[in-house]
Amino acid sequence: MNAPIFSLRLLDWYARCGRVLPWRQTTDPYRIWVSEIILQQTRVAQGYDYFLRFVRRFPTVEALARASEDEVMVQWQGLGYYSRARNLHYAARQIVERGAFPSTYDDIRSLKGVGDYTAAAIASLAFGLPCAVVDGNVYRVLSRYFGIDTPIDSTQGKKLFAALAQEMLVASRPADYNQAIMDFGALQCTPKSPSCHACPLADSCQALASGRVGQLPVKGHATRVRDRYFTYVYVRCQGETIVQKRGSGDIWQGLYQVPMHETERPMSLEELRAWLGADGQLTQLCANRLHQLTHQRLHADFYLLEVERKPAIDGEWIKETELGHYAVPRLLEELLARVPSL
Ligand code: SF4
Repeated sequence: MNAPIFSLRLLDWYARCGRVLPWRQTTDPYRIWVSEIILQQTRVAQGYDYFLRFVRRFPTVEALARASEDEVMVQWQGLGYYSRARNLHYAARQIVERGAFPSTYDDIRSLKGVGDYTAAAIASLAFGLPCAVVDGNVYRVLSRYFGIDTPIDSTQGKKLFAALAQEMLVASRPADYNQAIMDFGALQCTPKSPSCHACPLADSCQALASGRVGQLPVKGHATRVRDRYFTYVYVRCQGETIVQKRGSGDIWQGLYQVPMHETERPMSLEELRAWLGADGQLTQLCANRLHQLTHQRLHADFYLLEVERKPAIDGEWIKETELGHYAVPRLLEELLARVPSL
């Protein structure tokens, strides 16, 4: 069993090569919590200054709880993922109401915005509890060292790696061990070009021995879901409307639609007017109707444009009463049902 060698060598490496970071010089759960939330979606280099500014402005959980949401947001400005700041603020008030910072894994995990990883980090770093963290670095190091090709994003993989991480944890030094394995993944066993030639684990690393360093960890085939924004306009002019036939190379090939414009983000009314190039009465019939496809999430806005004269919009003019003869996607069918007296 390689566990003792693996863990002890990691600790030894950490003592020599670990990063010196401001949130490492403390066991204050508040500071550790703030740093972990900042680092969830932010690189250490960028998060460093934000952390220092944040804890200078709100030095205690009580100070954060007393602040207004606007004040918290000002400190967070530029970091992105603002729900993190809102959750921090909310949880600070939860903590103050409870009377003390929670000190068990389950109580920490119950705070708003705190997941498994963050709860294990706070529990181990602040309270010395034997809770192993599992983040991207940990998946990478464990899968390579032990040569495990179970996809890390599968249910089976998550369980397997969580159990292995816990088994490898040096229970007498959980804080050092957790920081050691995360730093090792961030600095030594990196996603691209890991430093295998100068690695203290090289002589027993399964991935290195079998030439699979570049193939591990394995991820499943989960494809990223793409968001698309469709703005549909039903044009009504003296009993007639416009339909367009969808071309090839995209979803719903060959089906019909009313004039539609796709954008990278929701379209403003001004942009819509500019696109239409037509006067007339514009009424919104539906906003941000979500429609889920396998790898796409569609956001649909739907408008009615009533005009006296036919505008120059691409498509074929047909009688409104004939619309039922044209096959339309299910999403549009549902939207068309909102057009008055159709
Ligand atoms: S030998 Fe390479 S792949 Fe194996 S643990 Fe070390 S850095 Fe990672």
